[in-house]
Amino acid sequence: MERRAKTKYKPIHLAREDTSNLNIDINHDINRRIAEATVGVTPLVRGVWSAIEVGAIVARTSDTIDIISADDDQDRKFSQRSKRYGPHSSLYARGAPFKAQIHLDLLCFFSPYHRAALKGVFLEAQHNTVILEMDPVCCDIFVKWHYTGCVPNDDPWALCQLYILADQNENLALRRAILTQIVNVNFAPDLNDSNTAAVVSSLPENSALTRYLLDRTSYHQRAETIQIHTDMPVEFVETLKELIKKPRHWLDDCPCCNKPCNYHEHNTVEDWKLSCAESGSYPMPEPAYLRAEI
Ligand SMILES: [Zn+2]
Ligand SMILES: [Zn+2]
Repeated sequence: MERRAKTKYKPIHLAREDTSNLNIDINHDINRRIAEATVGVTPLVRGVWSAIEVGAIVARTSDTIDIISADDDQDRKFSQRSKRYGPHSSLYARGAPFKAQIHLDLLCFFSPYHRAALKGVFLEAQHNTVILEMDPVCCDIFVKWHYTGCVPNDDPWALCQLYILADQNENLALRRAILTQIVNVNFAPDLNDSNTAAVVSSLPENSALTRYLLDRTSYHQRAETIQIHTDMPVEFVETLKELIKKPRHWLDDCPCCNKPCNYHEHNTVEDWKLSCAESGSYPMPEPAYLRAEI
């Protein structure tokens, strides 16, 4: 069964350009309201989902915005895939539209991209819509994550689809949650699959998911030759060649298994202590994976 990743998102450079046009006043207002709503806790997005912060935002604000799915993958493949998604699949019949509401401030709290993109909406309109080019199951997870912090899915391609969205929306907390799940399901990519090539092509070169895919392959692939799809970006192939040349101590020493914080884009150990260390579940990132060290 062929599965394919969506690649029709807004180009990353345009998304970043939008963000660079952030409306300072709106941000200030949102940050002030969040700060007021989270008295006693650090009023900053620490890159992790927090029940205290989310609860405070939801309690203090009532503006919501519609989220709909604009997925056009309503063919037989999608029908087959949807059966594999577990409990969520029963919520959406094939072809059924997805629509949900989300608190505007919550969406903006985690995503500077949405903060920038919705600045006009925030000021002027009451009824507006965010269209996500993902299938309904992924849209459902996207909305639920904002309220629960959970990514209840173990399908790697759904997770990759969500990760690409989180990358383009600059949603670090969601990226971290997804990568934790990808590490937990021990995603082993087939580099000769066009889906893998599409995912890598949709991400910036320094993406943490790309690095996971490189590590998972270079540390675990024991075959003499590695088949790579012709659509795989040249930079990815070159980096993989370099990694494979290095001596490896195989599985005991790999950076990928059970170490999601290596792929959480932690800048420093301090950053890790303020975010993931509080949950106490995962080991500290290795020095080579701290962004400030790269
Ligand atoms: Zn590993
Ligand atoms: Zn972490």
